[in-house]
Amino acid sequence: MRLGFEESQAAFNSGSQQARVWTEGWVAREAYCINCGSPSLTKATNNSPVLDFVCPVCSDQFEVKAQKKAFGAKVADGAYFTKIERLKSATNPNLMLVNYDAEQLQVRSVCVVPRHFFIPDIIQKRPPLAETARRAGWIGSNILLGRVPEAGRIFILRNGVEIPKADVLQRWKQTLFLRGSGLEARGWLLEVMRAVDLVGRQEFELDDVYAHEARLSAIYPGNKNVRPKIRQQLQVLRDNGYLEFVGRGRYRLRAHV
Ligand SMILES: [Zn+2]
Repeated sequence: MRLGFEESQAAFNSGSQQARVWTEGWVAREAYCINCGSPSLTKATNNSPVLDFVCPVCSDQFEVKAQKKAFGAKVADGAYFTKIERLKSATNPNLMLVNYDAEQLQVRSVCVVPRHFFIPDIIQKRPPLAETARRAGWIGSNILLGRVPEAGRIFILRNGVEIPKADVLQRWKQTLFLRGSGLEARGWLLEVMRAVDLVGRQEFELDDVYAHEARLSAIYPGNKNVRPKIRQQLQVLRDNGYLEFVGRGRYRLRAHV
């Protein structure tokens, strides 16, 4: 994987236009499909302002965002209602976050959030643009990256170091089972995965996860049976090989690459 941008520094009106051209060229040359392993992605031929790529083999789509600052807890995205509609459709894209060094003119980190980690809860509605704005009333969105479990941030390049492709594909496969569950069921699974992340240990007990009961109750106020629901999600995560039961009320996360 070559990290440098090859496009010349042509005169662009804005830094963001320049960054888009760099990123587009780099993804077309170097990125691969982390769903099926296809060695290249093709630029999608839509006219939307979103930079989209598509895998010519499995048709998975990738929405690419690039910036020179490291990505924080939220990322600005397009129109809110369009995003929510797309999220519910089969063409919902994976999110590829490209972090680059504007002085060295090269890519530093690339992280992909698989599309099965997206639920409406992590799309935040921004306030409508003011009456004085050119697009008055337009409602944008933020993607709340901070609410995505660790397993949903898959690096193919981290701080200049390429992660072996076999490891990336393996890591991707570990959570692919989420695609099979509906949006609501997936919401619970993701929240329990996050609770397990917050426990912060490979081996843990049921009580460690129960410690997050209040947060889960706040997210799902209609559910009065949060503890049984937690146990049920842990069971689903076990059935799909994400974690294993090692004894009464004891669990172990399977090794994540
Ligand atoms: Zn593919």
